[in-house]
Amino acid sequence: MKIVENLGIEIENRLKKIITNPVSELEFNNEFELLVAVILSAQCTDKRVNMVTKELFKIYKTPYDFANLSIEELEEKIKSCNYYHNKAKNIISASKKIVEKFNGQVPRTHEELITLDGVGNKTANVVQVVAFKQQAFPVDTHILRVSNRLGLVETSSPDVCEKELKEIFKGRDYGVLHHLLLLFGRYFCVAKKPKCENCVLKDLCKYFKKFKG
Ligand code: SF4
Repeated sequence: MKIVENLGIEIENRLKKIITNPVSELEFNNEFELLVAVILSAQCTDKRVNMVTKELFKIYKTPYDFANLSIEELEEKIKSCNYYHNKAKNIISASKKIVEKFNGQVPRTHEELITLDGVGNKTANVVQVVAFKQQAFPVDTHILRVSNRLGLVETSSPDVCEKELKEIFKGRDYGVLHHLLLLFGRYFCVAKKPKCENCVLKDLCKYFKKFKG
């Protein structure tokens, strides 16, 4: 583990130099808005979600507002997002549960968060780490790809990847690390044609050594 821990620290240090603001690109004003934005972001870009929520949150702001909407009303507002029908259903149902079971407050524990419709392990982790600054480590498709290419992990399972990254980066700020790896995957180590030639990590990278070195 020591070798991979050192690799992790080196990666963190180098990424901090090129990604100077490792925070979420979703726009939100409170934990409830973040929850709605994260549910909308499945299979949809953050840019698109921000365009939708900019208008949506002008009209509807609280779980009470969303709990009182019909599915059709919400669909109309979010229809430019993929899977808007399911997302509308889940947002309304999650809002109702927040109102009825959690006093109108987004719950703070993983166990409670995943009881909300539309909230799986990753979404719960995002809310925990971004809104509540807890030590959760959401793994999305970018983080899974980057972590495998770099040789931090060797798995196709997001759950295994999450567990191993938490071990590798134990004691460090998971929120910062999550965003460093995510933004690096989104803008540099992209799925098709990663920008390897100019990559600050290429001398450390397993993928680069195997395919381009
Ligand atoms: S060298 Fe290429 S594959 Fe490796 S981390 Fe950099 S961009 Fe990604």
